[in-house]
Amino acid sequence: MSSFSHNKETAEHYLQRFLQSTTGHFINGQMVANGNAETYDNLSPINNESLGRVVAGRVEDMDAACTAAEDAFPAWRDMPGQERKKLLNHFADLIEARAEEIALVESSDCGQAIRFMKQAAIRGAANFRFFADKAPEAQNGLALHQAEHTNYTLRSPIGPVGIITPWNTPFMLATWKIAPALASGCTIVHKPAELTPLSAMLLAEIAHEAGLPDGVWNTVNGFGETVGKRLSEHPAIRAVALVGESATGSHIMRQGADTLKRVHFELGGKNPVIVFDDADFDRALDAVVFMIYSLNGQRCTSSSRLLVQNSIKARFLDALEARVKHLTVGHPLDPNTEVGPLVHKGHYEKVMSYMDIAKEDGATVRAGGTARKDLGNGNYVSPTLFTEANNQMRIAREEIFGPVLTSIGFDTEEEAIALANDTDYGLSAYIWTNNSGRAMRMARAVEAGMLWVNSENNRNLPSPFGGIKMSGIGRDGGDYSFDFYMETKNVCIAHGTHTVPVLGA
Ligand code: NAD
Repeated sequence: MSSFSHNKETAEHYLQRFLQSTTGHFINGQMVANGNAETYDNLSPINNESLGRVVAGRVEDMDAACTAAEDAFPAWRDMPGQERKKLLNHFADLIEARAEEIALVESSDCGQAIRFMKQAAIRGAANFRFFADKAPEAQNGLALHQAEHTNYTLRSPIGPVGIITPWNTPFMLATWKIAPALASGCTIVHKPAELTPLSAMLLAEIAHEAGLPDGVWNTVNGFGETVGKRLSEHPAIRAVALVGESATGSHIMRQGADTLKRVHFELGGKNPVIVFDDADFDRALDAVVFMIYSLNGQRCTSSSRLLVQNSIKARFLDALEARVKHLTVGHPLDPNTEVGPLVHKGHYEKVMSYMDIAKEDGATVRAGGTARKDLGNGNYVSPTLFTEANNQMRIAREEIFGPVLTSIGFDTEEEAIALANDTDYGLSAYIWTNNSGRAMRMARAVEAGMLWVNSENNRNLPSPFGGIKMSGIGRDGGDYSFDFYMETKNVCIAHGTHTVPVLGA
């Protein structure tokens, strides 16, 4: 049997259960599927057929989850870090044991090609192990000395937190946000994206199997405007971590204002990749292709704006066009597929609308620009390259979030910086040059939370991850995550020698 047939057959087996019973919530250690609840169809990106019914959670469901997280918090907070470390490492073992299931379910639910989703469980488990190992030292602080006083700081978990995740790589992102929260000693309520609820339920099952105490992990399915909104308003929830669109970040800020929520936002991007004529041409070409066409272009750090120096523009775009036209679009479970279907019909229509917008604005569609109806009733789009664009066009300003690249030429370093920074976003940037001085100047001048020189997006868990401008607030990774999920208390102790002010003597 080919590995494609094996994948399809095995995926069918794992997906059966979602077709047979409605996907509900996981609240206070119990799977909850309220019999009278409103439900919706979770549609497959591959053929737009139902993968099963999902409960559209109500405010009452979210309230129950937040109360469970609140009740479970004191015991979880007080559990020694060494014990949390053991539990969370066990969690990682269980993720790895279900790696094939996670990869196949995730690929089928969100349309990402299996060649990339094979790593989902391994990366998710790595997120858990990394933060598990840090749990015992998460409360550590600083000692700050004065002549007659000594200060020291303590960190304690902030309380129950809300984790709101998107549909693009739902499993990996959920583990990335939840692992540090639990390692800190926070309890969580997870609100997965309504378009991709399946792998979140696998995670909830693993939470149960791993032996997390009831209420430490809660998952509520449903829509952003109802349960997501309630999560960000709920008085028991001390902080909300969102990965999603910039507009959703604004909503959550407003919704959380009355309860003064601490927020951490990882939002959209229109990230530039800047290729100078002194760069390693072939490596730059590989990275440019990889960083927009992998993961269907549905990736926050995708380099969706190519800024290429005019002296090599013609040669670079010729080579790029050939590569884009050669990309293999197809069923996400086919190991040969490089670009799969987009997550949902609505998103597919949004991405397709930019094909007309590009032409109206006067750009050239150098490759792609069409739907791939020949692949069936799924949300397939040809990988697309727009050239002859300028930075004022909507295709250069708006996050398309599909396998669509907009290229713009530039002459000088100053012009490249001005173009790179002329955007509302500031998540990531990629610089390709063999001139180390230029690399250092660009690293300083380009406005982005993360910048890679001569590399595609390289993951390093201790490094800070996050954006500036409309791309986000706050940083994840290493100790940055603990700063978000924990409160710092300063304790000031007098040595008994200083003069206390005397009043009313
Ligand atoms: P989205 O903002 O539409 O949805 C994200 C989550 O927010 C979903 O769970 C949704 O139900 C919820 N939500 C929506 N409205 C809400 C509200 N009013 N209150 C509370 N919750 C609400 O985003 P999406 O379309 O699912 O994901 C794609 C977006 O995510 C893109 O903009 C992408 O760039 C961004 N993203 C950013 C990063 C990053 O690290 N910066 C990573 C991945 C994705």
